[in-house]
Amino acid sequence: MVSLESKREELIIMKFGGSCLQDALSFAQTKEIIIKYLEKFNLIVVSSAMIGITDKLIEFYKRSCNEGSECEYIIEDIYNIHKRLINQIIESKREEYEKSLTYLRKNIEELRQLGRVIQLIRPSMDIQDLIISYGEKLSTFVLTEYLSSNGIKSRFISSNEIIITDDNFGNAFPILDDTENLVNEKLIPIMISDPNLTLCITGFYGVTKKDKKITTLGRGGSDLTAAILAYSLRNAFNCKVIYWKDVKGLMDADPEISEKTSLLKQISYVEAKELAFFGTKVLHPLCLDVCEKGNIPSEIRSFSDPTSNEFTTFTKEIVRNGKVIKAITSIYKLSMVTIESNMMVPLSGTASKLFSLLGDNNVNIVFISQSSSENNITFGIDFKDSKKASFLLRDSEFFGKKWFRIKINNDISLVAIIGAGVLHTPGIAGKVFTRLGENNINVLAIAQGSSELNFTAIIERDNCKKAINVLYNAFINQEY
Ligand code: ASP
Ligand code: MG
Repeated sequence: MVSLESKREELIIMKFGGSCLQDALSFAQTKEIIIKYLEKFNLIVVSSAMIGITDKLIEFYKRSCNEGSECEYIIEDIYNIHKRLINQIIESKREEYEKSLTYLRKNIEELRQLGRVIQLIRPSMDIQDLIISYGEKLSTFVLTEYLSSNGIKSRFISSNEIIITDDNFGNAFPILDDTENLVNEKLIPIMISDPNLTLCITGFYGVTKKDKKITTLGRGGSDLTAAILAYSLRNAFNCKVIYWKDVKGLMDADPEISEKTSLLKQISYVEAKELAFFGTKVLHPLCLDVCEKGNIPSEIRSFSDPTSNEFTTFTKEIVRNGKVIKAITSIYKLSMVTIESNMMVPLSGTASKLFSLLGDNNVNIVFISQSSSENNITFGIDFKDSKKASFLLRDSEFFGKKWFRIKINNDISLVAIIGAGVLHTPGIAGKVFTRLGENNINVLAIAQGSSELNFTAIIERDNCKKAINVLYNAFINQEY
């Protein structure tokens, strides 16, 4: 028997997403995973809404905003989905069954009321966040009762009690210091008073500091909740985060584009962040930052094959296993903007004006490629921002006059080679050019981050798939 003290040192915060919470079968699988880990560790479970529920709640909110638009059926639908689940997974004579149904009815009634309120007042993002937080409340509550009914001592905690964010509704940013204080004050005493308790905490939302309004952390935000909790508990426990996903882990190229791929079994946070930046979307992007900041190891594991050795571990340290290049990734749809002037304009002042203009208007710059001449700047932006950028530049006092030639190419892609040390390894750029050239792929621009972690080539979109495969074979398939 492991003593409680030593058992408590290791704490695993595991996050179950919507696909782990879709029906009786997946709830049973979730429970099995929890039981297995409880043999060795203390756990905190973070859960997102049941699959599809957040979308339904957003739809409910939108429809409620339109006077006269029918929305009751969405609430009925959400009620029925949860009711059916409760009927399937908790025996009706148990106390947990009644508790779950009562909670469901109460919360569904609150949602109905909110729907009515929106019809009377002006719609606002804070009400939308409040409404969509119900998805996590319902799923997490039912999961808690389900675990309890199976003899796993569990307690439901709503994350508005502990997670503080800014007031950027819809995509709120966590305030880690305040959250850590609250976790110390509220969560740790509960954990210490009953070390055998499994806490089930709602993912996806927190509250603003001052007026305690519910905020959501952006789509897929339950991942981030798990990371934030681990960060806040890092001084009290040896924390690790496990994200259960419907994939094995992070791949070294996108399986939809690359003919060959393999699993990245170990990758450092800095490298994973590059992957995330250049288009790989498996985790909420901020998770990596938060875990890195707290020096917390984390894993992505396959929900359908939980004991498999095939999974991804993220580490603080860069693993140098002889391979410099870890992954090839791409952003398929980009636009490239080139601005030129006949005059020689000092680049530094211009660059800062350019980036403030675009930044202030929420146009995100994906790459910058700067020639040594001082009358030309090329940069890449999201395809969807292309019209906005064009308008901003042409309309601006400075760029509209001094930089009179503005060219936008909307048919480009970016391919990136990622790995710590890329830029300090001789020969990589040459090999990229050679291999792409041999395959008739024209490189329109190159860009390199100030980090030494990526080398990026800008190419025509028609060539993207080919380029990925060429580079994968050149750098990953053969030891470089
Ligand atoms: N339920 C939320 C969403 O669908 C958060 C999450 O899944 O992590 O985005
Ligand atoms: Mg999800």
